[in-house]
Amino acid sequence: MPLKVRVDRNSCIGAASCVAVAPGTFELDGEGKAVIKKKDGSTTSDLVSYLDINDTEVNIEHAAKSCPVNAIVIVEVDDNGNEIRQVWPA
Ligand code: SF4
Repeated sequence: MPLKVRVDRNSCIGAASCVAVAPGTFELDGEGKAVIKKKDGSTTSDLVSYLDINDTEVNIEHAAKSCPVNAIVIVEVDDNGNEIRQVWPA
């Protein structure tokens, strides 16, 4: 099933482990919070489909697991993009 990822900006403390592990997916914005880099060049902390990210599934997973405050949330979606279940934090 397809996956999507988002950053909980309220939890993110700007530790940047995610940026170190998956620089193709994450960067810090002007507020020191992690955002997700999309293929179209835009960035957001909201849910992004893995299909719109230039990175591997395993890199994104490792980045999420590296976050000290579990601010990176991964969800599984159905073919219509609707959330089925939360994959991480488990
Ligand atoms: S590792 Fe977590 S706390 Fe650090 S910048 Fe990334 S999302 Fe934020």
